[in-house]
Amino acid sequence: MADETDRAQSAKPGEDTVFGKIVRGEIPTKFIFEDLECVAFHDLNPQAPVHFLVVPKKPIVQLSQAEESDAALLGHLLLVAKKCAEMLGLSNDGYRVVINDGRNGGQSVYHLHIHVLGKRQMVWPPG
Ligand code: 5GP
Repeated sequence: MADETDRAQSAKPGEDTVFGKIVRGEIPTKFIFEDLECVAFHDLNPQAPVHFLVVPKKPIVQLSQAEESDAALLGHLLLVAKKCAEMLGLSNDGYRVVINDGRNGGQSVYHLHIHVLGKRQMVWPPG
């Protein structure tokens, strides 16, 4: 857990990220889903039995830097998250959707992404 916090504290917005490399095909990654706007793939360090990420191909740094013109894309990402959750059998019992924003939000990769976690009971409040 300390590692995650350290990563979030030291990550810097505005640099090319591992997700940029994944989206551009520079790091071979097995996608759960891909279309013109986004990709979805399993998290390297899963925090639940199912934990995947939905990442726009457009390199929006973080949610707080999204613009009005990104409205359709942001909606699309949520619908892709829903579709992938269905594909992976999460719909019956539910799942959690998370966007970490900035340092206090615990963001460690500065390329917007939606986390989807499932197949275990989530608790509230989150850490
Ligand atoms: P954040 O902390 O920015 O909200 O989430 C970043 C997520 O990306 C973390 O859950 C981390 O495990 C995941 N991650 C970091 N690097 C890689 C990678 O190279 N491949 C994959 N699949 N996930 C990664």
